[in-house]
Amino acid sequence: MSALPWHLLPDNSTVDRDGSLSIAGCVLTDLAAEFGTPLFVYDEAHLRTRCREAVAAFPDGVAYATKAFLCIAMARLAHEEGMALDVATGGELHVARMAGVPGERLVFHGNNKSTTELKAAVEAGVGTIVIDSMGEIDRLESVLEGAGKTARVMIRVNPGIEAHTHDFLRTGAADSKFGITLADGLAASAVRRVRSVPSLELVGIHAHVGSQVFDVASFSKTVEVLAAFVTSIEVPALSIGGGLGVPYVEGEEAPTITDWGAAIRSAVAATGIEARVHAEPGRAIVAQGAVTLYTTGTIKEIPGVRTYVSVDGGMSDNPRPVLYGSGYEVFLARAVTADRDRPVRLVGKHCESGDVIVWEGKVPADLEVGDIVATPVTGAYGHTMGSNYNMVPRPPVVFVNDGDARQVVRRETHDDLLARDLGMDRV
Ligand SMILES: *Cc1c(COP(=O)(O)O)cnc(C)c1O
Repeated sequence: MSALPWHLLPDNSTVDRDGSLSIAGCVLTDLAAEFGTPLFVYDEAHLRTRCREAVAAFPDGVAYATKAFLCIAMARLAHEEGMALDVATGGELHVARMAGVPGERLVFHGNNKSTTELKAAVEAGVGTIVIDSMGEIDRLESVLEGAGKTARVMIRVNPGIEAHTHDFLRTGAADSKFGITLADGLAASAVRRVRSVPSLELVGIHAHVGSQVFDVASFSKTVEVLAAFVTSIEVPALSIGGGLGVPYVEGEEAPTITDWGAAIRSAVAATGIEARVHAEPGRAIVAQGAVTLYTTGTIKEIPGVRTYVSVDGGMSDNPRPVLYGSGYEVFLARAVTADRDRPVRLVGKHCESGDVIVWEGKVPADLEVGDIVATPVTGAYGHTMGSNYNMVPRPPVVFVNDGDARQVVRRETHDDLLARDLGMDRV
């Protein structure tokens, strides 16, 4: 059976003479020894390269969707590389602000923004608020009135498109909680309503049809479906959202950010849309930039059934397999190019049978207890979707660059787990 497909690893991966993997000059097994496991390791130059590629592919404006991976270092990095930042909650807004990102470089999303969140967005001078529902127009109007301010807004429309992806990742189909339906004149009436409010400036139309979409035709289709509407209302910008897929396992391939931008631009040109085109990639910026390191513990062979290899993390650092049935690869950090001829299921330490990291994994035959294994393509929706389930502390995040390893988020401690618990005051 096969070695790990190299294209799943971060850009600056190299094999050392002894067969072990280094990223940006840092040996993975050394990082595990220094920072412990589980550990998220991000290739900083890889992240910067993807941001630059996005800025080049969408010269009119591109925002990094922070929900894919967010901490102060990442917010700064995306900002430094010229991306705006998408935030969708007061919490994401707070992190972006604490990172020093100016309000005008932020785009505020969300299908249920609270009045408090709208106030915070207005207060921060957020560059664009993306209105998601009719009711939000009223709420925003009254928040602006109270603050004596104005806001630039886009309207998120739901084009009624079935993007080819997992049901939970599909956001542009007719039956969705997101956006204002394009059909039946609903989006057009939202435009009229927004234009009747003096404190709102309509700067564009927004659509985001789903995530982990591999076929750029889904995006071209969105542009086609929106063309007549966007042209008729004469708005300055059209945002096509994010959603570009990335390969996670052997045999998968995805278009590059550059291909994606070219496909969207040609669809826009073909339909005669004159608006500027914006985009909001999340996953495509960060997913392949990281690997997660784990230490193997219990190895259980069930004769005639399968072998379970347990590691020291699980659904608390990567809930995607249990949420979506997502597939991943696994490799041995000390032997990255070795043939992986032993089928195993890589599982976590949580009290849950669904706590799986790799359903159908392959590892080299000599894998032992105490080995460092790694799962590639874990830079998106792992750290941000993690939890404290079973009171398992969340892993640290390390950025590696030019032989240096910089810890940007420390490991959670057992005391951190009690930081919000008021019970101690009473004993
Ligand atoms: C999630 C999301 C994105 C980013 O999606 P990816 O699949 O990570 O690229 C962009 N825009 C909006 C509105 C989103 O909800």
